[in-house]
Amino acid sequence: MRPEQPGTRGSAPQASILHVDMDAFFLSVELLERPELRGTSCLVAFDSGRSVVLSASYEARARGISSAMPLSRARAIDPGVIVIEPRHDLYRQYSQRVMEIFGSFTPLVEPLSVDEAFLDVGGAAKIFGTPLQIARLIRGRITSELGLTASVGVASSKFVAKVASTQSKPDGLFFVPPERTEEFLRPLPAHALWGVGGKSRETLERAGLRHIADVADADPRLLKRLLGEHGPRLQLLARGIDPRPVTPEREEKSLSADRTFAEDLSSLEEARTALLDIAHRLGARLRSQGVSGRGISVKIRWSDFTQLQRSRMLEHPSDAGKVIFDAALRLAAPVIEEMLPAQRGIRLLSIRVDHLAPTGHGQQFDMLQHEEHLRDAEGAMDAVRAKFGSQAITVAGILDSGQAAARSLPEDGDFSA
Ligand SMILES: [Mg+2]
Repeated sequence: MRPEQPGTRGSAPQASILHVDMDAFFLSVELLERPELRGTSCLVAFDSGRSVVLSASYEARARGISSAMPLSRARAIDPGVIVIEPRHDLYRQYSQRVMEIFGSFTPLVEPLSVDEAFLDVGGAAKIFGTPLQIARLIRGRITSELGLTASVGVASSKFVAKVASTQSKPDGLFFVPPERTEEFLRPLPAHALWGVGGKSRETLERAGLRHIADVADADPRLLKRLLGEHGPRLQLLARGIDPRPVTPEREEKSLSADRTFAEDLSSLEEARTALLDIAHRLGARLRSQGVSGRGISVKIRWSDFTQLQRSRMLEHPSDAGKVIFDAALRLAAPVIEEMLPAQRGIRLLSIRVDHLAPTGHGQQFDMLQHEEHLRDAEGAMDAVRAKFGSQAITVAGILDSGQAAARSLPEDGDFSA
C-alpha cells in the first residue's frame, strides 16, 4: 500500500460539487420543436461542405457519429441521417433558463459553456438538502420546466464531478462519495485526467502509464522528468486531490457609470449631487447582478478634457449606493476643492467599482448585518424601478438639489478592466 496522502481523508472533504451537463443540448432543444424526429438518427450542423457535427442524437451516436466530426464523415457513416440547421439564438434562450435554475440553488455557479456548469451547493443544505438531493431537484426541474434532460456528477472536487457526469450520460446521476474517490478514478484511462491530451498522453503511454492508477502510483521524479512542473500536479489529480474552488464567472470584472454634463459643473455641491445619483445607479446594477465590489475609483474630467482618477479599497465589499457614494465623495471632494478654481468646470464624473465578487463572499457577518438595512432600503427602490422604470424613484439628496442631475446626460459605460 502506498502511504496515504495527507489531507485526502483526514480533513473529511464534503461532496458538495456538482457538474451539470445538458444531454445533446442543441439537438434536444430542436427535438422539442420537432417531436416527430424523436428516436431517429439526426444531428445539428450547418449543411455545407466543410462543416462539423455540433450535436448528435443518441441514435446517431449509436451508429458511430459524434460531435466535432466532419459532416461529410457523418453522412458516410449514415447516409439517412437528418441534418438540422443550428439556431444559436434559440439555444442561448434555453441556456439562460438552465443557468437560472442553477442560480436558484446557489450563487456559486461556474459556467463552462452554454450547457454545462459547476455548482458548489455546500451552503444550500439547510434550504434544499444534501448535494445528492439537490442534484435530483435540478434534474427534475430541467425536465419539468424545459422538457430537457441533464446528467449530473456529484463529488468532492470539480475534476471528479466532471468525470462522474460524463460516466452517467445520458440522463443520469453519478455520486462519488469522498472516501471512494480514488477507487472511482483508478481504473479510468490516464487521458481522462485534466490537461492530458495529444502530446502528454503519448508521453505517458510510452512510459507505460495508461491508467489513472499508474499516474497515481508513479515515482514523482519520473512524472517530473516526463511532464515537468505539470507532473506533480497531475499526480495529485490522479489521487483525487483538486482544491480548485467553484468560481462564479462574471462577465464584468468591474462596473462603472458616468455622467457627461450638458453644462460643466462649477461647484462641489453640484458634483456631490451628481456622484450621489451615479453611485445609486451603480448600486442598483451591482445588486441586480448579485455582486459586490471592494475597489472604488472616481474619474473627473475637467472642461479642458484633462482628467484624473483617484482610487481606494473599501474595508468590505459593498453593493450599497450609499457606501459607494461616501467613498467616491471622499476621493473626489479634496481634488475638486483644490483644482476646480483653476480648472473652472467639470465636464464628466464617473465611478467604477471593481474587485467584484458574489455578494456575501468575503463579507463578515457583522458587516453584512450592518449593511442589511441599506440593502433593504435600496432593494425596495430596485423593486419600484423594476416595476415602473428607472425614472420612477430617486434618492432624496437628488430631489433636494436636483439641477445638476436634471441637466446632465446619463451615460452608462464599462471601463475595459
Ligand atoms: Mg453537454
